Amino acid sequence: MRSPAPSLLAAHLLASLASLASLASLASPAAAAEAAPPAAAAERGAWDLEIAPLRPGIFLLRRPEVLRQPVEPNAAVIVNARDVVVVDGGGTPLAAENAIRLIRTVTDRPVSVLVNTHWHGDHCLGNQVYRAAFPGIVIVGHENTRRDMAGSPMKYVERLPAQLQPVVDDLRAKEQKGELKPRQRRLIPDLETLLREAKRIEVTPPDLTVRDGLTLHRGEREIQVLHLGKGNTEGDLVVWLPRERLLFSGDLLVEPIPYGFGSFPAAWIETLDRVAALGAEVIVPGHGEPMRDLGYLRRLQAVLREVRAQVGASVARGLDLDSSRKALDLSALERDFTLGDDLRKLLWTAWWVNPIARSAWLEAKGLPIVQGASDETG
Ligand SMILES: [Zn+2]
Repeated sequence: MRSPAPSLLAAHLLASLASLASLASLASPAAAAEAAPPAAAAERGAWDLEIAPLRPGIFLLRRPEVLRQPVEPNAAVIVNARDVVVVDGGGTPLAAENAIRLIRTVTDRPVSVLVNTHWHGDHCLGNQVYRAAFPGIVIVGHENTRRDMAGSPMKYVERLPAQLQPVVDDLRAKEQKGELKPRQRRLIPDLETLLREAKRIEVTPPDLTVRDGLTLHRGEREIQVLHLGKGNTEGDLVVWLPRERLLFSGDLLVEPIPYGFGSFPAAWIETLDRVAALGAEVIVPGHGEPMRDLGYLRRLQAVLREVRAQVGASVARGLDLDSSRKALDLSALERDFTLGDDLRKLLWTAWWVNPIARSAWLEAKGLPIVQGASDETG
């Protein structure tokens, strides 16, 4: 399944639709178990979020099911004496509306600053709702994030309804023939919601851009918004609270399966060293469970080094992208991420191996990695 210029959101979605189709054909007992979502979860919408305290006055806003499609990131809610700072604006207007409703359960102070950690739609397509709810809000992003949101990478949003409609129609037809597994059936209402949401989206880029970093001072609390280098995108920001030793990493870290779409493998390894050097007690990744040590970060660096080494050797032998991907063998490292789980294995290939191999191949060839223009859904 390919699209001309897939975004992260669309890429995740289309790649995983293919993954789910493959999953349906797997016959192992593990696959059958994975195909049935928990009953309680099946009743929840894809943008029903939860809020939980991380530290006094600091909350994690998230959807617990990290591998569910469409993906929805972790967000931070930092409640200060007179205002609230939020990290990441959610993947749809609906997600942002739900987020604000939950923020209202813990504080009545206004959100004055919203940070977008990067341009991928799951982190910034709720911006318009924050702007409408809090007219004085400042939306902060890296200058490259603003460029990508205001430019062609984000144009996929306009194409999303036309891309999604046939997928939904196809799933509906298969459902009527009884051909869908439970996990695929659950996609239908979620995709129908996404279709409605896609038509509501008004892309709202940051209005305060950061090159290297800025610090928000709120009483004794410092909120540092830092660009530690490229990695997952060309404009990754992390949010670091030195007093609380709490770090929000955006998608520089995504657990359990990293995202490799349009990423920068060489720089990413070094950027992660700078993340590690901050000395966080807790790192909240862009998606997935909060981390209390550097184990996952080091595993991600190891796999990035391995991808670069192997793909670099393939390029030196003159292999094209497809052959370099086929030659790539990450089996020694894969199990740490997939734990042998069938769904994770499919997503490992779709979200990580295929796109990161492409980026490593482009780097080894000395070719540019252009945001939002790749074949990662392939
Ligand atoms: Zn994300």
